[in-house]
Amino acid sequence: MRKNLVAGNWKMNLTYPEGLALVSEITSLAGSAAAGANAPEIVICPPFPLLHGVGQALPQRGKFHLGAQNCHQKESGAFTGEVSAKMLASVGCEYVILGHSERRQYFREDDELLSQKLKAALAAGLKPIFCVGESLDTRESDETFDYIGKQLTDGLFHLSNEEFDQVTVAYEPIWAIGTGRTATSAQAQEVHAFIRERIARAYDAKAALDTTILYGGSANAQNARELFSQPDVDGGLIGGASLKAADFTAIIQSF
Ligand code: 13P
Repeated sequence: MRKNLVAGNWKMNLTYPEGLALVSEITSLAGSAAAGANAPEIVICPPFPLLHGVGQALPQRGKFHLGAQNCHQKESGAFTGEVSAKMLASVGCEYVILGHSERRQYFREDDELLSQKLKAALAAGLKPIFCVGESLDTRESDETFDYIGKQLTDGLFHLSNEEFDQVTVAYEPIWAIGTGRTATSAQAQEVHAFIRERIARAYDAKAALDTTILYGGSANAQNARELFSQPDVDGGLIGGASLKAADFTAIIQSF
């Protein structure tokens, strides 16, 4: 079901004590604002070793949820160094980010692999946050819509209606990630509307209306309200600003 949602992607940042300190600050700053009826769902996505402890430190009531940044496509086995979706669920994760551009770029994750990871996550009962987004080259050569359309078709739209129901989509233009160069609210809205229209085509109008679509890429306390006010922007996937309690809290309160 479509909802306002803010997810903090900590990426490869913070030690365990630092993560605990950040969560404690966020929960005290956000206070009752994070529990109110209009509060967005808040998903905290720390690195793997921090998941269990940070999950335990989140308020057990209210809008806080735990998410991971990746999972392996197989359920278990001899895959040294990898982490399965089932393990993530067993430590309290409800969400998992899949297809982040950093995974696609630095770890060569392609649509075929991501399709398998999506299936594995769903089989373990996790809700995927599936990322798409174009490079600056792609945008400047006017191929953004073709590119994102293909990421959706090849990576995501193989899911059944029931499976797709569990998915949140995140639009993260690569040129905006960690660069301080945010997409304008009009640029974000244009791509979000396109994604929703493609969902309607691949599934149906109800699925399109029901899907939560997040924006990510240099979103911060200053620009979140303007971005979130767009009709097809349901919240944000936040990197850098999720590491600062005051900024992340301000973003949570930007609806
Ligand atoms: P920044 O907010 O640091 O640009 O990162 C966005 C992102 O990649 C979230 O997944």
